[in-house]
Amino acid sequence: MITVNRRLAQPPLPRWQQLWREAVTDPLELLRLVGLEQHARRLLPAGDTGFPLRVPRGFIARMQTGNPDDPLLLQVLPQVAENLPQPGFVHDAVGDAAARSAHGVLQKYAGRALLITTGSCAVNCRYCFRRHFPYADETAAANGWRAALAAIATDTTVTEVILSGGDPLSLSDAKLAELGSALVAIPHVRRLRIHTRLPVVMPERVDAAFAAWLAALPLQKVVVLHANHANELDASVDVACARLRDAGCTLLNQAVLLRGINHSATALTALSERLFAAGVLPYYLHQLDRVLGAAHFEVTDAEALALIAALRHSLPGYLVPRLVREVAGEPAKTPL
Ligand SMILES: *Cc1c(COP(=O)(O)O)cnc(C)c1O
Ligand code: SF4
Repeated sequence: MITVNRRLAQPPLPRWQQLWREAVTDPLELLRLVGLEQHARRLLPAGDTGFPLRVPRGFIARMQTGNPDDPLLLQVLPQVAENLPQPGFVHDAVGDAAARSAHGVLQKYAGRALLITTGSCAVNCRYCFRRHFPYADETAAANGWRAALAAIATDTTVTEVILSGGDPLSLSDAKLAELGSALVAIPHVRRLRIHTRLPVVMPERVDAAFAAWLAALPLQKVVVLHANHANELDASVDVACARLRDAGCTLLNQAVLLRGINHSATALTALSERLFAAGVLPYYLHQLDRVLGAAHFEVTDAEALALIAALRHSLPGYLVPRLVREVAGEPAKTPL
């Protein structure tokens, strides 16, 4: 029958898109899931929804039940500390609002063009500059890529295109394929770099269809993951990383140095070791952008430098990340 055929013709949502819809957005539910109902007084008052909670259930499953200081929980839980006075912390911490072009391309560094592909993420990280700028309208996707791709096509110095956001893997495979084909058609673009937290917070995103598309894409491919603590990596993340490697990607990680989450030599050593076990090399360790609401995560430069010195003693050189800060107007990330 026609109606039945029609229903059959509708492809089911990919599993990762179902998981996306099932993400936890209610802070009290999150506390219940990790056995911390009695900690509700720590939460931002309900109605303070400027930057709402959002976290996939698979990521919650990696949190330790009953631990109010769990390093994964602290990255996503909206806490009253965010509303304390924070001198020196501002809305636009990296001066990006001015640097953003209307069509979602950022060209600050030689040879590289960064595309703001989307404003959405699978997780809302409390320390992120994005908490004040969802960037919904300034993405390259908003105008169907045309202006963004034209800007890249006319500048023959661009050899590497970086997909950023938001999280570029929040786009559908079809959207990514459309973008990928357009980039392949630009002769001077040799490398595609993808900055994404999805293989960590929702590894199901790296499904067979996505991996097949990546493998077939005739560009050199780099995926820069974002994990801040060893506990974020489990067997499901290992699978996603293996798929990305099998698809021909070089895997790197960037982390943010966060007080109470990873600001110890022990935590950072464990992170590097765990990343390498998953086939990922540590790339950057970022000093926090001084964004309003994130002051309680800040680690001083002196502490940060001491931590890196300790890592140099405990790890092989290739597992020591570069400690950097983003300084508006500089031609590269600034080493500390
Ligand atoms: C961080 C960044 C890059 C990439 O810098 P690398 O040092 O190559 O990782 C490129 N463009 C912009 C606008 C950036 O902020
Ligand atoms: S851009 Fe990255 S750090 Fe910011 S909320 Fe999204 S996933 Fe988290």
